[in-house]
Amino acid sequence: MKIIEIREVTKPIQSAIRNAYIDFSRMTLSLVAVVTDVMREGQRVVGYGFNSNGRYGQGSLIRERFVPRIMEAKPQALLEDAGGNLDPHKIWKCMMSNEKPGGHGERSVAVGTIDMALWDAVAKIAGKPLFRLLAERYGDGKVNKRIFVYAAGGYYYPGKDTETLKREMKSYTDRGYSVVKMKIGGAPLEEDVRRIEAVLSVLGPDQRLAVDANGRFDLQTAIEYGDALSSYNLFWYEEAGDPLDYVLQTELARHYPGPMATGENLFSMQDVRNLIRYGGMRPEIDWLQFDCALSYGLVEYLRTLAMLREHGWSPSRCIPHGGHQMSLNIAAGLGLGGNESYPDLFQPYGGFPDGVNVESGFITLPELVGIGFEGKADLYREMKALAS
Ligand SMILES: [Mg+2]
Repeated sequence: MKIIEIREVTKPIQSAIRNAYIDFSRMTLSLVAVVTDVMREGQRVVGYGFNSNGRYGQGSLIRERFVPRIMEAKPQALLEDAGGNLDPHKIWKCMMSNEKPGGHGERSVAVGTIDMALWDAVAKIAGKPLFRLLAERYGDGKVNKRIFVYAAGGYYYPGKDTETLKREMKSYTDRGYSVVKMKIGGAPLEEDVRRIEAVLSVLGPDQRLAVDANGRFDLQTAIEYGDALSSYNLFWYEEAGDPLDYVLQTELARHYPGPMATGENLFSMQDVRNLIRYGGMRPEIDWLQFDCALSYGLVEYLRTLAMLREHGWSPSRCIPHGGHQMSLNIAAGLGLGGNESYPDLFQPYGGFPDGVNVESGFITLPELVGIGFEGKADLYREMKALAS
């Protein structure tokens, strides 16, 4: 058993939206195919992966460093044992040879993208859904296919007024979501308060709003917003300040009593450990949003989950950023608290297999072999084009 080839293509996922920090007019991602020599049911096994929105394609890193290291390794050095499956842990170590520690930058995105494709291949070779393989190998063997998902949107874009924002949010609850999220921090506080109250006016009693500042605020602004937000019983207040400013996060927790969320821009177990050690996050009420597709993949995410457990955090406090099916599999197999979803954005990469609907804020994962990309026709079309 061996990897014959790894292909990468950089794809546009641009749109007119912006958050408090960036616009998405030139956003891209990397799509990767890991082609193996394994045949299953008359078909060659190909694993697919891509990185989440927000960090751009990583084609040059993938092509110049990480793919050559894998392809130059002895094939049997990348297997579990003689005749066994591909071993993502060994391949991860191979990819990270001659890489210094720290300074995680965006190589974590390149590695995470290849890692996703490897896990897809591993589950396909094993002939089962990835969530089952994860539950058997790293969990208690039980899967929970019913996953909480929330609708992320509420971006700023030219000409968008509160009526448009309300219509957008209403369209999410109409599609079965019980929690919706909107951006803040891209307008003055008074305007954001008007936007928040407008959205709350269209939510029912069992529906909740989360807000996301995308790391925009200094401490004083984060607290001013926190004071204004504290009367609204929000689902969470996300990424108030810079993702690496743990003093800000700690200080904000002293002022803001409601749930907070952060972590989508922490790309290694070590960075996450610093957040847990020094960021004042509260394991009873706060949420962690690390996204494996941006942060060295599932091999690293398993280390992060082990570290969290040692620090008294349940995996159920993790609701990853990114809205991809990889995180849905981790949630179903290893007990995460749910996953982000972008109902109208970043297609065809985000979302669920065809025919999966949101009901009262939850989806139920179908039994698809691998990560399940083959169940989403528009996405699989792009993947197949890369592999053939
Ligand atoms: Mg966010």
